[in-house]
Amino acid sequence: MTERVYLDWNATAPLRPQAAAALSEALSLAGNPSSVHAEGRAARSAVETAREEVAALVKARSGDVTFTASGTEANMLALTPAIETLSEKRPRDRLLISAVEHSSVRAGGRFPRGAIGDIAVDAAGRVDLAALADALAKTERPLVSIMLANNETGVLQPVAEAAALVHAAGGLLHVDAVQAAGRVPIDIGALGADLITLSAHKIGGAKGVGALIRAREDIHFADPLIRGGGQERGLRAGTENVAGIAAFGAAAAAARGQFVEEAAHMLALRQELEAGLLAVAPDTVIFGAGVERLPNTTLFGRPGMKADTAIIAFDLEGVALSSGAACSSGKVQPSHVLAAMGIDAGLARGALRASLGWNSQKADIAAFLGAWRKVASALSKDSKERSGMAA
Ligand code: PLP
Repeated sequence: MTERVYLDWNATAPLRPQAAAALSEALSLAGNPSSVHAEGRAARSAVETAREEVAALVKARSGDVTFTASGTEANMLALTPAIETLSEKRPRDRLLISAVEHSSVRAGGRFPRGAIGDIAVDAAGRVDLAALADALAKTERPLVSIMLANNETGVLQPVAEAAALVHAAGGLLHVDAVQAAGRVPIDIGALGADLITLSAHKIGGAKGVGALIRAREDIHFADPLIRGGGQERGLRAGTENVAGIAAFGAAAAAARGQFVEEAAHMLALRQELEAGLLAVAPDTVIFGAGVERLPNTTLFGRPGMKADTAIIAFDLEGVALSSGAACSSGKVQPSHVLAAMGIDAGLARGALRASLGWNSQKADIAAFLGAWRKVASALSKDSKERSGMAA
């Protein structure tokens, strides 16, 4: 069997060795973290150590981290009218979300459908700050949700500027930083976010663990996500996933410690990948290329290319890619992100995403480009045949 080349890190990242070690060690902890005996205290200590590491990744305080069962669940916890601060105890009247959010934010959490408004993005996929200001002027107590980095294009949002507008309008800002974590530095205070969502498996932890992190102690949820035994400050009941949380902490520590080298490594490889894409087929479009993006993500398309057949062709060559959001792959629909950017539906339907990670190698890029040569030449042959038939 040919060696596989995994270029789908935005769908999920392989487990980091540090996370695998923490996971297996924590699996042998017998106690329940809520128990007061020594076994329980050992499990509690694993959870609290991880809470500190996850908090440190975004420069937050560990007491402000709530563990959940996924990034999706953290978004669900965050997006509720029932967020209170010391100065504002009335429910939030409206949720404003950017048009390029992940489906777990687009679904609107616990807001009624009619209370959700969209904020447009520009042609590069960045939130239109004038449109945000307009929408804010029409609401009294808004909750706004804007992602830090887009999962399909990697485009970074002007979150600090948006935060200033949101706060001036008396609103609160939730930031889905699931794709940004470990790839760009995150400082919850400097960003101006009131709440941040993270997901363990995107930074090399295990799948099925997430976190919602608040910026300040005075942010409260009057409406827990899961009622029961009162775990996670009463917000998300259920015995904690101790091993998954321990692995999340270890992955966060590794990502923080190696951030500078990893980001530079991914960027150099991505530049090579993009130069190669264009050298083989100069009509390739790299979406969001002109603006700041994550160092690991390339979303690209070519006139006439079909994502479903191209993904299979890459897969047969041993290369794992994705068409836009992995969560919706399997159903080939033009991406809502590219539609919001005003990209032609035909070009959007063919978009493919290559996403790299700390462990990606130069040889992976060479294998990818070898496969791309075949895919691109089959596509050119097809379109020549089609235009020949039409003539
Ligand atoms: N937010 C973004 C931007 C994502 O890319 C994803 C997953 O792809 C999620 C949230 C959901 O995270 P999880 O898979 O942990 O539910």
